[in-house]
Amino acid sequence: MRDETPNSWEARADAHSFYGFTDLPSIRDRGAVVLTHGKGPYVYDVHGREYLDANSGLWNMVAGFDHAGLAEAAKAQYDRFPGYHAFFGRMSDQTVMLSERLIEVSPFARGKVFYTNSGSEANDTLVKMLWFLGGAEGNPRRRKIITRKNGYHGVTAVSASMTGKPYNEVFGLPLAGFLHLTCPHYWREGRDGESEAEFTARLGAELEDMISREGADTIAGFVAEPVMGAGGVIPPPEGYFQTIQAILKKHDIPLIADEVICGFGRTGEVWGCQTYGFMPDAIISSKNLTAGYFPMGAVILGPDLTDRLQAASDAIEEFPHGFTASGHPVGCAVALKAIDVILNEGLIDNVRSLTPHFEAGMARLAEHKHIGEARGKGLMGALEAVLDKDSKTPFPGDLSISERIANTCTDHGLICRPLGQAIVLCPAFVITEAQMDEMFGKLEQALTQVFAEVT
Ligand SMILES: *Cc1c(COP(=O)(O)O)cnc(C)c1O
Repeated sequence: MRDETPNSWEARADAHSFYGFTDLPSIRDRGAVVLTHGKGPYVYDVHGREYLDANSGLWNMVAGFDHAGLAEAAKAQYDRFPGYHAFFGRMSDQTVMLSERLIEVSPFARGKVFYTNSGSEANDTLVKMLWFLGGAEGNPRRRKIITRKNGYHGVTAVSASMTGKPYNEVFGLPLAGFLHLTCPHYWREGRDGESEAEFTARLGAELEDMISREGADTIAGFVAEPVMGAGGVIPPPEGYFQTIQAILKKHDIPLIADEVICGFGRTGEVWGCQTYGFMPDAIISSKNLTAGYFPMGAVILGPDLTDRLQAASDAIEEFPHGFTASGHPVGCAVALKAIDVILNEGLIDNVRSLTPHFEAGMARLAEHKHIGEARGKGLMGALEAVLDKDSKTPFPGDLSISERIANTCTDHGLICRPLGQAIVLCPAFVITEAQMDEMFGKLEQALTQVFAEVT
């Protein structure tokens, strides 16, 4: 697999590129996959090999890898006005138009948008906004942020503290004041004999307990993904957000939807909060926002937070925060086009019409005796590998079962992602039924091969 010739792309990648979120033993054996281009949902490496990318890059390349309209929108804007900031009361016309459009497609009757370069920075920005509000409104103790175990909110010091993953311990994170509730995964966390509704009620009680233990006046906000993405594609249990929101409302704690993955169509509606029928106080967007064609994130504030943040800023005559490239004109032009492509040029319709086919493929693979659970929503899904289905016993960790499956898939020309002991599928919205059959066919082949090797 690995090209061992001197000066190969693999050797050059190793020599000077630091790998993030990469299983280094696999890289040592196999070498990096160095890519040159893409077409629809496929990508191609330096050796000319073709891969169907079942993860649309990192969930974000939803319009595929060769969308002419998106590339043209970027080119046209580079020609017109290639860069500007959004400080000192100046911003590009594209930025003005994108904010209008985002509020229009948001669930909010009115609101305002703040731009960042990534989802992590959008979560960071949101937390700074909440901290600022606490101080400005005379509640300087209102600084704690509640999220859930396995929730993923990014990698900056603050957003990594929101992320509920054990790997952040190596950085001495989370920072103080970042609290994590039980992961709302009924299949794994539900107790023997506990119904899904009882599970939800127990998670609600846990939140109530946390609020009363910590003091409601110390909690600045609750942030959650509608469907957990990088936590392993975990849809909420029945009634979850209704239960949580009622508790938060009682204590005046804002509920923020981290829609970096769910937003713009992944779950079949524009927003995940619409799929699950709740109204957040703010939305975090990134990834699909530009269909992956430009790095950009956004904090979309609903009416209440808009008014409060405006008042707090007016009081000190500014909001002292922003990135050099916040509201970048090219990013905004690309996002305007991406929103059009997703909402008006058939991509979200494709998500809706392909979801039954996707679910049927998942259900078929779930019949395998080593697949414990198939779960998902819209075009995001995960298959959880187990040694024993009835007892839900995982494979021994040293087998690296999901890495093996993913590596075998790569050998067969399919890119999919290992997460814990699950395999994640989140294809581009432009995928066809035939390409989806290819995806499931290759995955099935890999599952059969790997389970035969290890059992
Ligand atoms: C990817 C992701 C982020 C972080 O976005 P980056 O652009 O990688 O910083 C935050 N929240 C969720 C839900 C994500 O999936």
